[in-house]
Amino acid sequence: MEKQILVTRSSMPSLEEYVDEIKGMWQTHWLTNMGEKHQALQSELKKYLGIENIDLFTNGHMSLELSLQAMDLQGEVITSPFTFASTTHAIVRNGLKPVFCDINPVDFTMDVNKIESLITDRTCAIMPVHVYGNVCNVEEIERIAHKYELKVIYDAAHTFGVRYKGKSTGAFGDVSCFSFHATKVFNTIEGGAACFKDKEFGLKLYRLKNFGIRGPECVDGVGANAKMNEFCAAMGLCNLRHVDEEIAKRKKVVERYRERLSNIDGIQLSPIQKDVKPNYAYFPVVFEEREFGATREEVFDALAQHDIGARKYFYPLTNTFECFHNQFDVKQTPVALHISRRVLTLPLYADLALEDVDRICDIVLSCRRK
Ligand SMILES: *Cc1c(COP(=O)(O)O)cnc(C)c1O
Repeated sequence: MEKQILVTRSSMPSLEEYVDEIKGMWQTHWLTNMGEKHQALQSELKKYLGIENIDLFTNGHMSLELSLQAMDLQGEVITSPFTFASTTHAIVRNGLKPVFCDINPVDFTMDVNKIESLITDRTCAIMPVHVYGNVCNVEEIERIAHKYELKVIYDAAHTFGVRYKGKSTGAFGDVSCFSFHATKVFNTIEGGAACFKDKEFGLKLYRLKNFGIRGPECVDGVGANAKMNEFCAAMGLCNLRHVDEEIAKRKKVVERYRERLSNIDGIQLSPIQKDVKPNYAYFPVVFEEREFGATREEVFDALAQHDIGARKYFYPLTNTFECFHNQFDVKQTPVALHISRRVLTLPLYADLALEDVDRICDIVLSCRRK
């Protein structure tokens, strides 16, 4: 029996380190509601990311959803369908209408040349995604947003630790949201954060994550419950101490993948972006059947036969989800459709052995028709 390899494996501190971090809670009995660990993680993250304003959430999705709510928006939000369900759902659950912009075929982020043609008098915001950790064209998005007075909310779920021209991706847009889900580069088990520019907005957001409570006798917002609890914050404090090490290990894995899979006919890899310090979050591979000699499905099945879990990430596109039954026309996003049918993300985590990477690459390459 061959060793099973899952697509990802959560980073964890040693048990001792975590126990040490949570011990004090048996004295304080303070388990949630913005306690000591919550405060500590918030200030450590400010330092690590080099940003001024950050708030923590129970997960990345709620940071997106409540950020939109805190902006009091109405109308249409331009976004990408090449993403996780969360991005689109955050828009729809706020009573807003997603308008899907196609992606560019190189790094799979929003095609900035197509944004302006989608802007109408109902457009209120742009919600781009730094997909796979690839940084969007933040300058061009900012220019467009400024010109048309639109809000920008980045789904930065994939980019913890990524820097563009020396700045964390948390620094771009009106708000930028990270996910600290167990499967992400940095995790708090479940968790998320919103980085924002405007302190007034931050206060509103803070209240919305706690039912909209302003004071002991005043509730003036229809909020939710999206507070990060102390055990999750403690996990974050531990994992943050090791995140640079984890990213360095991921880099080795990615370099091996690149070594083995670059310059193969019919295989397209994500580019190394200029001015970007990456976090090596994902390793997407696009298979063009005609040149490669096998489809994405065939490669997926071959890996599955060896108990190796790759993911068809992101397939299907969010604008084809059953829950939106024919509300959107997928023909509007042909590049996203093309890529989503051909892409596979290969297993990637800090402790993935290079021999396992070799085994995965051997199987992938053996799918080529002779
Ligand atoms: C993981 C993810 C989210 C949501 O994060 P959760 O913490 O799981 O709620 C949002 N957008 C993208 C692109 C993601 O990958």
